[in-house]
Amino acid sequence: MDDFKPSELWDLCLREAEKTLETTEYESWLKNSVYEDINGTRLVIRFRNSFVAGHVKSRFGGMLEEMVREISGRNDLALQFVGDPAKPGPSRRESAPQENGPSTTDSMYLRSNYTFDHFVVGPNNQLAHAGALAVSSDAGTTTYNPLFIYGGVGLGKTHLIQAIAHQLRREGSRRTFRYLSTEYVVGTFINCVLQKDYTRFRKLFQGIDYLLMDDIQFLEGKVETQEAFFHRFNELHQQGKQIVLTSDRPPHELKDLPERLISRFQWGLVADIKPPEYETRLAILMLLVRDEELDVSHEVLDYIASSIRKNVRQLSGVIHRLAAISRLTGCNIDMNLAQKEIKSTLGTISRRLTPGTITSAVAGVFDISPAQLKGKQRKRNILVPRQVAIFLIRELTSMSLKDIGAFFSGRDHSTVLNSIERVTELRENDPELDRRIEEIKRKLVSI
Ligand code: ADP
Ligand code: MG
Repeated sequence: MDDFKPSELWDLCLREAEKTLETTEYESWLKNSVYEDINGTRLVIRFRNSFVAGHVKSRFGGMLEEMVREISGRNDLALQFVGDPAKPGPSRRESAPQENGPSTTDSMYLRSNYTFDHFVVGPNNQLAHAGALAVSSDAGTTTYNPLFIYGGVGLGKTHLIQAIAHQLRREGSRRTFRYLSTEYVVGTFINCVLQKDYTRFRKLFQGIDYLLMDDIQFLEGKVETQEAFFHRFNELHQQGKQIVLTSDRPPHELKDLPERLISRFQWGLVADIKPPEYETRLAILMLLVRDEELDVSHEVLDYIASSIRKNVRQLSGVIHRLAAISRLTGCNIDMNLAQKEIKSTLGTISRRLTPGTITSAVAGVFDISPAQLKGKQRKRNILVPRQVAIFLIRELTSMSLKDIGAFFSGRDHSTVLNSIERVTELRENDPELDRRIEEIKRKLVSI
């Protein structure tokens, strides 16, 4: 958002939404919304009444938030939808155009460009892509059931699962599906608990040939939803319905999930997506540039592909922002502009990953205080986390050994080196520690 005013950001988001939604839908719900204010990291958007605001939140909230994050390059931004209280009586009815529209209130929205055509296949995502293609083209066969796709943030999981949905929705296809975010499923379940009526929850899983459920890691810790979902899963599976799930981790790394659910996730095909190699990154950039109808030299694309290596969302974010800047100001996308943009994209990340944030994250996971981590005590339950913090700071920041030592109460650089070697060794023999380190890393990189 360093590049845009919040109001511009909302306008860009609306333009993106207009491309994705049906025209009538866009016009009924979003067109007249206005940016009102920014409250910390929350953009406040005003609608003509609270009914419309509530409706937009439940139907498009997740999608709009994702768009705003992608365009701004800031994962911490959130949206708040407000409206004046709806007038009682007939006017409330009047402001409910969804009564004539398609009944999709129980399903989430698909991004129009998240199709197989727009997905670049590389060695990093080959298996997941092949699995997705197989389940969407093989009517009636359920060799890969469930298909479980996992991988880090911004690597194309949502894109692939929505590509399946697009494929199923094509003209002539008789297969019915429901695409759901796991957060939505959990939310629906909680509402049903409150109302003591589980009809809505059950309906989510009825009358469909395909269940496409995104971000299944959100089931962690939701014991009752897990239980209810377990039964729905079994029912669908027994009926030979296809299930596709995505997660930011492989099934066995999901915490607090019952073993029987985890083992069911492993029944079919488990496929991972890794960060893309240079060639794939370049191919993705070329596709994005073509879509946005931009004129960008190979040199600039090469520079972007070489600088952003871990996350495809950042790649597309950079292109969207460059496109927006060039449209707003009329300037060309040259090396200068690209360098500035990359610096601010990577800068936002490195600003977040300070020794302080890393130490706090480590302390949180090991349940000790940051002060203890930085202090002198050498008890094992503190020593190992301290070594882990040192290891992660070295890996995730560009701090020198000397500076890291200074941060940990003036230790010298050989102590820092020792810690790094020790953790490398420990990880190989201690899968639990290895898992915790990966967990901390994931938390830090996805903030
Ligand atoms: P995830 O769900 O894994 O966090 P997304 O599916 O939202 O990630 O992908 C982030 C962005 O990167 C999206 O804009 C998506 O279109 C794009 N993307 C990811 N992988 C690819 C790919 N292989 N080809 C083209 N675009 C991709
Ligand atoms: Mg996703």
